[in-house]
Amino acid sequence: MKIDLHVHTAPRSKCSNIDPKEIIAEAKKIGLDGICITEHQVLWSTEEISELAGQENIKLFRGNEITTAQGDVLVFGLEKNIEGVIPIQMLKKEVDMAGAFSILAHPFRGFKVFGISDLKMSVEQASKKKALGFVDAIEIMNGKVSGLDNEMAKNVAEQLGLPGTAGSDAHNLDEIGTCVTIFENKIENEQELVTELRARRFSIGSLR
Ligand SMILES: [Zn+2]
Ligand SMILES: [Zn+2]
Repeated sequence: MKIDLHVHTAPRSKCSNIDPKEIIAEAKKIGLDGICITEHQVLWSTEEISELAGQENIKLFRGNEITTAQGDVLVFGLEKNIEGVIPIQMLKKEVDMAGAFSILAHPFRGFKVFGISDLKMSVEQASKKKALGFVDAIEIMNGKVSGLDNEMAKNVAEQLGLPGTAGSDAHNLDEIGTCVTIFENKIENEQELVTELRARRFSIGSLR
């Protein structure tokens, strides 16, 4: 089951151009089985999401992209709305208490820009990034960052033995599905999504 775990829609994500009403048709067009809507600090209600999903065969799930002082974290299965920037340690407490699942999004976004690559940051050094100790997984394939950024994330995930997920981080309709997480089992609801993520029963790929 192919799911894009990281999609922003308008107007809830101000940075996005995606009309939520168009995502089902787009998913069908490219052969995607499910989409997680992950706005910034806003969780859709279950009623809204099931209304949007309608009777179609495409699964829609709710996630949330939380801004922490140590980077963006995608959370699934966390009902609590978190406002403002919080320390990642505090988010971990909330996630653990709720039995939710957290993924450090685009963990090395733009690391080259800061000149670190000039110093040849090793995977070992990158693996010491503090935030990595407070999440359940890391995003090793994000559609909006460079190949180098993703490669570093993948190497770090391997080094630390953390599961690596994929998500497009789409802000435009034609970006949905650039990065997808491919689950071994059929997933019907958010609880099952968390279970399958935790069990690491997935691989990654692309539909574009
Ligand atoms: Zn982000
Ligand atoms: Zn995002």
